[in-house]
Order: sequence, then structure tokens, then C-alpha cells
Amino acid sequence: MGIYLDNAATTNLCREAAEAMRPYYGMEYYNPSSGYAASKRVKAKLEESRAVIAELIGAKAEEIFFTSGGTEADNWAVNEGVRLKGHIISTAIEHKAILNPLNEYRMRNGKVDIVYPDREGIVHPASIRMKINRNTKLVTVMMANNEIGTIQPIKDIGHMVHEHDIIFHTDAVQAFGHIPVNVDDLAVDMLSASSHKFHGPKGVGFLYARKETGLHPFMFGGGQERGMRGGTENVPGIIGMTAAAEVSVRRMKDNITYCQKLNNHISYRILHEVPDAIINGSRESRLPNNISISFKGTDAQSLLVMLDMKGISASAGSACNTGSKSASHVLKAINVPEEYIGGTLRLTIDSDISFRQADYTVDIIKMCVDELGGNVEEAIYVGDTN
Ligand code: PLP
Repeated sequence: MGIYLDNAATTNLCREAAEAMRPYYGMEYYNPSSGYAASKRVKAKLEESRAVIAELIGAKAEEIFFTSGGTEADNWAVNEGVRLKGHIISTAIEHKAILNPLNEYRMRNGKVDIVYPDREGIVHPASIRMKINRNTKLVTVMMANNEIGTIQPIKDIGHMVHEHDIIFHTDAVQAFGHIPVNVDDLAVDMLSASSHKFHGPKGVGFLYARKETGLHPFMFGGGQERGMRGGTENVPGIIGMTAAAEVSVRRMKDNITYCQKLNNHISYRILHEVPDAIINGSRESRLPNNISISFKGTDAQSLLVMLDMKGISASAGSACNTGSKSASHVLKAINVPEEYIGGTLRLTIDSDISFRQADYTVDIIKMCVDELGGNVEEAIYVGDTN
């Protein structure tokens, strides 16, 4: 077994989720919309899942809408601003699941303003306030960034946005299950989450929408999700996601403590033992599981291949070669220097990683960075960062 350090891309399925799902792939295969007793049993389980998810984030069951994942939930949220033909404000470091629908809207003459974070990746409420106008209908700011792990001051932004009577959405895909999420505390009207980021199955997630938001339907079909999102529900997926959510929230405190310790250990060793390395993002306000680190003049794609050969799965923080046009929009937005940007590695840990594995990883990184030493010509394109 290798060392998996790409938990921001996806996580392994927890035992509890696998067990909870099994009956719904077998004996309990019924369509929750049918009228007989077996279907009603499945429907009841679905509604129980909705209530559990709602309770975990301090919402009401009728405010939870199951989706095919984070991307759909994000698209649905953006769609609210689009339907209202309003001005939308977002940030330069959002996931493409927000930025691309916004680009689409812009191409159809929709009004969009993009706010930049500071060098640590923090989006300040004041910079959003400056962009608000009379037609602003939606502000969407992610809770935690998938590349650099920075956690945003969502609560402060939420309260400021509400003074202007504007809908506030947060993409909590990297946050939910990892750090506390309560929709009232955070002052959010809409929130996206994705099951496979917290040890649930893939292809399922949810959108929370506060009742007063007056959410509009997103997918038209058979009237499922109270007419808001047609399509037969992914019953096993929803049930698996709910089990994973319960487990994640229950273990959160211990996971945070462990991951923070491991994170500090890895970061400290890399910063002290590898020359010309920098950590990206905020030191104080960051996800405990995220280490985004840049090595000067190193090609991260080559580094990834070398790590892979040693059994270590990680991700590049940058989509392509050093400083090129297609380098990560997040790293560019926080002004990571040109000579570092292409040498960015994202390690996203979990509590199943031991300190011994972490030390082995640091030793290998040291060796590989030393071997590569500014060798940017042999870059191999690996892919985008999810
Ligand atoms: N938003 C963020 C911040 C993400 O990291 C991701 C996935 O990488 C998504 C949205 C999309 O989620 P999904 O893979 O469930 O569509």
C-alpha cells in the first residue's frame, strides 16, 4: 500500500458508509417515489438522511436538497443569481464549479465581479463590500480553498452581505466534515457540500438553502426533491453520504488535533531541510489537512512522477509548467512568485497517515527536489487540481 496524500481530491470510503449503503444496492432497491410499502420504507430512510444532514449543519430538513455532488450544488447556487438577472460577486480563488458557470453568465451579458484575496489567500469583507451595488443579488465565497487550504472569514462576510439584503452562498466542499460548519453561525443562505470529500461515496452531495432564500428549481423532471431537482434519487449514495457525514463530524475534533500535529511536523521539516521552500496560504486560518508547498525552480509535475514511483500519491498545486499561462489560478491570485509557482506540491493528509509515513515522505521529497534542482525543461503535464 502506498502513501495517499491527496485527500482534497477524494477520500477513501469509510466502513460505516459502505455498510449503510449495502442494503440499498441489494434487497432495498425500490424507487422511493413508488406507492407500495417497500418504496415507502426507502423514502422514509431518504427523509431520515435529510434530517440527519440538516441537524449536522444546524438547518431544517426541508432546507437540504440532494445533488450529484459539489459541482451541481455550486451550479445551482450560481443559478439563483442568474435567474434573478442580478449582479454576482465572487472571488478569484473559487473552484471551477463556481468560476465556469460565472463565465457562462458573463458571456450572456451577466454582470459579475471577481474579488482578489490577500497574499495568504484571505478574502476581506471590505473588498466585497466595495463591489456591492443596487443590483447585486448573490455573493459566493468558498469556505476553504482546495489548493492552499485557506479558511475564509465566512461569518464576517455573511453578516456584511446580509446588511445589504443579498443572498450569500459558500462552497463548503473542502470544509464540511473537516471543520465545524453551522449555517446560522456562518450566516450563510446557501451552502454546497460533496460526499466523496469526507469519506462518503462519489457522485452525491447536497445544497443547503435557507427557506427564506426562495430557492428556484434547478433540474426539471419527475418532481423529486419537492419539485426542485427532478431525477430518481441516488438512494445508496445519499445513505452512504449521511453515514460518512455522521462519522466525520463525530471524529472531527480528534482528526483536527492529529492532522494539525502531523501538518506542523511535515511543514517544519520541509521548511528547515529543503532549501528555497515556501508554504502557501495562511498559517493561522487553514485546513488542518492541507500543506501547499512551493520549491523554487522545481518542476512539480516531474516531482509528482518521482513521488509516485516511490509509492506516494500527491497533487501539484499548479496545472502546468513553471509560471506558464495555465498555472493554477489560485497560486497566481495570491501572487506566488514566478520561480516558485510551477514547483508547488499539495499534500492533503488524513488521520490514517502515521508520523513514520510522513517522515518517509519528507525524506523522499528532499531527495527528489535535490535531484530535480531547477530542472524545469522536462515538465510532464499531469492534470488539473480538484
Ligand atoms: N468545490 C470545491 C472547493 C472542490 O474542491 C470540488 C472538488 O474538487 C468541487 C467543488 C466539486 O465537487 P464534486 O467533485 O463533488 O463535483
